[in-house]
Amino acid sequence: MKKTVKTRFAPSPTGDLHIGSLRTALFEYLFAKHNGGEFLLRIEDTDQTRYKEGSTEVIFEGLKWAGLDYDNKDNIIFQSKRTEIYQKFAAQLVEQDDAYYCFCSAERLEKMREEQIARKVAPKYDRHCLNLSKEEIGEKLKAGEPHVIRMKISEHISPPFEGGVSRRDKGVVNETNNHPAPIVVGAPLLRKEGIITFHDLIRGQVSFNLKEIDDQILIKSDGFPTYHLANVIDDHESEITHVIRAEDWLSSTPKHLILYKALGWDAPEFGHLSLILAPDKSKLSKRHGATSVLEFKKLGYLPEALINYIALLGWNPGTEQEIFSLKDLEKEFSLEKVQKAGAIFDINKLDWMNGEYIKKMDLDKLVDLCLPFLKACPERSPEYSGRVEGPRGTWEDKKYLKKIISLEQPRLNKLSDIAEATAYFFTEPQYEKELLKWRKADLKDAKEKLEFLIEKLSEIPNEDWNKNNLEAFIKELISIGKLETGNVLWPLRVALTGREKSPSPFEVAEVLGKEESLGRIKKAVEKI
Ligand code: GLU
Repeated sequence: MKKTVKTRFAPSPTGDLHIGSLRTALFEYLFAKHNGGEFLLRIEDTDQTRYKEGSTEVIFEGLKWAGLDYDNKDNIIFQSKRTEIYQKFAAQLVEQDDAYYCFCSAERLEKMREEQIARKVAPKYDRHCLNLSKEEIGEKLKAGEPHVIRMKISEHISPPFEGGVSRRDKGVVNETNNHPAPIVVGAPLLRKEGIITFHDLIRGQVSFNLKEIDDQILIKSDGFPTYHLANVIDDHESEITHVIRAEDWLSSTPKHLILYKALGWDAPEFGHLSLILAPDKSKLSKRHGATSVLEFKKLGYLPEALINYIALLGWNPGTEQEIFSLKDLEKEFSLEKVQKAGAIFDINKLDWMNGEYIKKMDLDKLVDLCLPFLKACPERSPEYSGRVEGPRGTWEDKKYLKKIISLEQPRLNKLSDIAEATAYFFTEPQYEKELLKWRKADLKDAKEKLEFLIEKLSEIPNEDWNKNNLEAFIKELISIGKLETGNVLWPLRVALTGREKSPSPFEVAEVLGKEESLGRIKKAVEKI
């Protein structure tokens, strides 16, 4: 019977939820959903020294905001609550001779490291404590000497070795056949020989030389497990079928496979995602800008857009299509189309994509989402002001906000841009009078046109003051007077907005209303 696909996101609460972690979570989620499976969340909080207050909440909030819903919500694993379980399995491994006690002091280990570095060899535990007799170990334990438990990487587990039992069905070539290594059971344990090979779902066949693998600590001196032991036990107990994680963990996988084997368990399949890179091809980090998920939220990115964008960081749909909803992604996603090369994070592309989502958004929803960004802007708080004349708006005046925001909707890339983009609707525009000049025209000409507009526009009854009438009316004035369009529309727009770029003066004038618009044009004339 085919097993239900199960993936898990297993973050450590050590700070922010990084955008790279969200992409890992997304790919795990998509793989599970695409295969009708389950996506679980597990909090890997065994490292007390790296734990950061509040970071578990940040993980929950980030996933919720991004819309990545996980299964089995009432049973999220917190590893810090399972110490006894890990210790039980560690004891079993010691019993089986697949792990051993190590009593080396920090000073000894440091000295050993220094010597190894001086000899230009990669630092690794020298297996000093493997020489201890059973009696010596017993005495030390009895005396309460501080100790750790280390896994014993030894040749009896290799060759032949295949990660992920199901690989055999798929006929993956076992590379260890090409590197025959002696199986010397009971031979001096100081030798680690052989190659460990597994099939990575993204990278294909990956091999590690056992010699390169350290005798990893499984239980630390504080009794807590290391990542490796807890990770393997929990993936097994949760019946995880596919481990999809960042490439940083690739070198841990042989250790994990050895643990699965030692514990007599089938290993899941593994896929390691390449890193997200900055445009300069270095690892994406804070110095490149926002990296944490909640920071993107604060900057006014929409979760749908961020998810869509990061899905394309490493996954190639194989078509020209770029806009994908989460549901689309669930349908289309496959690991075969995930690339091995690192993906470059391009903030401009994300901005563009966010803009696409904003354009399509329901206006009422957009207004609600923009409101906090407007309110956060000091000049518009607590109530907006800055009208030349007439009543002041209030935040409750959604009708006015709707008009303003609808004008900016096609041009907005991030929600946080809304305060700056719409500033002139809230406060009287500030600009240099030189801006009123259109190309070769001078200020005298601008003044003349604006005065002419004040005179003519005053004739329009209040109820006819809308963009279509204004456009038709002003264009007719231009044509009758044989005027140049820019000579009229440019100073008009600047008088209304104080900007070089903005929506059309007709749209702006409609939203500002007759009184306010004429007031601003008069102010411009006074300026000159
Ligand atoms: N706790 C690890 C992390 O924060 C999980 C790695 C894994 O998925 O095995 O990335």
